[in-house]
Amino acid sequence: MIPKKHLGQHFLIAPTYARRIVESLPCSSADSLLEIGPGRGALSIFLKERFPYFHSVEIDAAAIEALMKKLGDGSYTVHHHDVLTFDFVRVGFPLHVVGNLPYSIGALIIKKTLYYGKNIRSCTFMVQREVAQRIVAPPCSSTRGFLSVFCSFFGKPRLLFTVPPGVFYPRPKVESSVFQILIDDDPAEKLPQVQWEPFFALVSRGFQQRRKKVVNALSTDNQQKKRIAAILKAHGVDDQARSEDLDCSQWLKLYKEVC
Ligand code: SAM
Repeated sequence: MIPKKHLGQHFLIAPTYARRIVESLPCSSADSLLEIGPGRGALSIFLKERFPYFHSVEIDAAAIEALMKKLGDGSYTVHHHDVLTFDFVRVGFPLHVVGNLPYSIGALIIKKTLYYGKNIRSCTFMVQREVAQRIVAPPCSSTRGFLSVFCSFFGKPRLLFTVPPGVFYPRPKVESSVFQILIDDDPAEKLPQVQWEPFFALVSRGFQQRRKKVVNALSTDNQQKKRIAAILKAHGVDDQARSEDLDCSQWLKLYKEVC
């Protein structure tokens, strides 16, 4: 099978890393599990050992053929579908999600997965190392970005380990890392789900001009600027703060008062 560049096919060829990812999954064999982008089955073969039943979603028919050959008979379901339009409810909630994600749509897959809120119990993803570092970056660090706030709204992201380029075929130009998020009991308790979109739009606006102070990045006139500065001050945030200095709860307070 010739790897398809446009589908981000960098197949894991070191079983030790694949096993490590599967062993890190915080779920029991009775839980629902979805693997995104199983490819030729590097992870799936270990999933099959540990879970009596699991689902996977893969866009590439040729990869599915290779996958089925590798896995042989067993209690698993492979959905031939684009994950971005696949409804996870077909697998059953609550759900744990795992995958070595195609780099180019990694962020979209993370957003789609987390938008299922409490229906998702954990996600364990391998992505480009820089993306994983951004996701786990704490407030006040220069690597913090929109994805850091987005992911920490749903739970506490943590970095598990880094994977070198040499254990993939074909070899990618960058290093990869595996991160995991255990999803909070109910993220909608922090903010009703209908308000997630405008909340994240505000956070995204803040990070679009990361060199600016939050007050400047979010306001269009002086009056608004004063109002935002007053809200920040009331919540113990310096009016000189930049977007990366705020933690998720401070963003939430800001959103609730501004909007
Ligand atoms: N899990 C395998 C491994 O670790 O060797 C393959 C990982 S490879 C980085 C990403 C996989 O995602 C490929 O098999 C690719 O075909 C699949 N993929 C890419 N875009 C996809 C999409 N939109 N929906 C579902 N699968 C996709």
